[in-house]
Amino acid sequence: LKDRLEKKPVLRQLIRLPMYFGIIMTLHSMFFGSAGSNAFIYYVDESGYHAGGMYNLLYFCGFYYVFLAFVSQYFFRNSLGKRREKYSIFLYNASLLAALIFRLALPKMLIMDTFIFMAILIVFLAFENPEFFLDIKGTTFNTYALGEHLEETIENLSGFHPIGVVIHNYRAMRDLYGYTQMEEGLVMISRFLKQLFPHANVFYYRNGRFMILDRQETNHDKISRSIFERFESPWKSHHTELYLSVGVARFETIRSVYTSQTILSTLVRVLDEVGRSNAEVLVKESDLEKTKEEQKIRKSIENALENNCFELFLQPITDSMTGKLSGAEALSRLRDEEGKIIPPGVFIPVAENSGRINELGEMIFEKTCSFISKNGLKELGMEWINVNLSPSQFVRTDLAERYYAIIEKYGIEPSCVHLEITEGSMIDENFLQKQMSAMNEKGFKFVLDDYGTGYSNLSRLKTCPFINVKLDMSIVWDYCGKPDGILPSMIQAFKQMGFYITAEGIEDERMANTMKDIGCDLLQGYYYSKPLPAGEFADRYRS
Ligand code: C2E
Ligand code: MG
Ligand code: MG
Repeated sequence: LKDRLEKKPVLRQLIRLPMYFGIIMTLHSMFFGSAGSNAFIYYVDESGYHAGGMYNLLYFCGFYYVFLAFVSQYFFRNSLGKRREKYSIFLYNASLLAALIFRLALPKMLIMDTFIFMAILIVFLAFENPEFFLDIKGTTFNTYALGEHLEETIENLSGFHPIGVVIHNYRAMRDLYGYTQMEEGLVMISRFLKQLFPHANVFYYRNGRFMILDRQETNHDKISRSIFERFESPWKSHHTELYLSVGVARFETIRSVYTSQTILSTLVRVLDEVGRSNAEVLVKESDLEKTKEEQKIRKSIENALENNCFELFLQPITDSMTGKLSGAEALSRLRDEEGKIIPPGVFIPVAENSGRINELGEMIFEKTCSFISKNGLKELGMEWINVNLSPSQFVRTDLAERYYAIIEKYGIEPSCVHLEITEGSMIDENFLQKQMSAMNEKGFKFVLDDYGTGYSNLSRLKTCPFINVKLDMSIVWDYCGKPDGILPSMIQAFKQMGFYITAEGIEDERMANTMKDIGCDLLQGYYYSKPLPAGEFADRYRS
């Protein structure tokens, strides 16, 4: 609150006026106060301490500032951080108010100080409690402290030389050595780092990652060598002996200015990469640019979610036998601030990482349902529309209910929309199967997308209720370029298992014929049409 007032110097001085006045009056009493007219606040004589004529000015100041604190808390209520902080600021002011009221009502009782002490305690516990800021048995600052530190004191980290240190395969190591031993090891490591950087703050950023904000032009080459050297020998204490290896990430000279947020996110991303390989990495300007780009995309996603402006594009899927339209695939499009299209290959992963994919997926699903209810499928000569479902959406256990509610809202059949899932997902198999069955019971059908790119997993194909396998364009192109016996026999096997086969990425007539000849039922690709804005698609195919 004070920071905000600092920006308005006149108001700030006006607010302080009663305080200055009170101080002057009190000082005046100290030097010139005696029984009689010239004691403003107090005077002391042989019989003791007495209130002066303007003693109530102190009450006025007290009530005035407590009142002001309540008022400003009210006005800035939306920008005050966490709930805990809001409540404790309120409680703090309430204690001060109670202190003043008691003092006024019972001047002979010494209760005021108790309330003031309470106020101090509240502020301490809510804001300065070391428990909030420390990690690894109190040896280093934690993630929260790093965030607060950056937010409050450093805008762009210029003059700082951040360094990241990460334990390789931290989780596996923790499982191997056990939690307590690992914690013991982290204590030793953090002590070691603090010795290495006596003038810097060392932060522990969870999962075996340390961040050091170094202010000095230290020789990071040498320092990083000492880190690697130290990790060549084990971390030993009474009951611990840990063999660990590390990665180090440091920055090359950066010319442009980046926000702390950008620098921190970049460091985290690079550290996570370093944590998997055995190396030392220099964070480059291009890494920071990549983070900035991602932050921009994240903003566009948020904006599009808020304003419901993800666009629905449709790409036709053709029956290979009749050459007629059979269905379509719904593909989402996002525009950046200048109105340029950001390809889904770029924004979908960002949405997945930032937890917004659920809303995005639902928005496109809903737009597809709305499209179907408005235009009809038969009217366009189609039977269904495929909608992509990101595997991370399965994390929502109420996915089936939510999607079904949307279907009902538009009064269409669940079998009109097929859900495409990429096979590359690492998601737990049992969980995936359970979620898919729940949706299957509600009438949804599933298509396995991008077959041939990821963890080709036949058991999943057998256990999960798919009706259609979509061959990824990479294997389609591969086959059309250099035919072999594998793909045709794979397709025959799939067909024996009862799946329809779709080939993606058909760009010319020859490819269409080739894929048709080896048994693909459905074809999709630029040869038939690029994805079209939903309205244009409807106009083109309406009979
Ligand atoms: P996908 O589901 O495999 O979609 C097919 C992609 O191939 C589309 O790219 C489409 O434009 C492109 N494509 C189709 N025919 C051809 C062709 O003949 N040649 C070439 N070179 N490309 C062709 P797009 O629209 O850029 O989408 C990329 C990926 O983004 C999609 O791959 C899908 O996995 C994902 N995606 C798109 N929209 C959504 C969505 O709403 N939700 C989710 N979860 N993922 C989506
Ligand atoms: Mg797809
Ligand atoms: Mg695909």
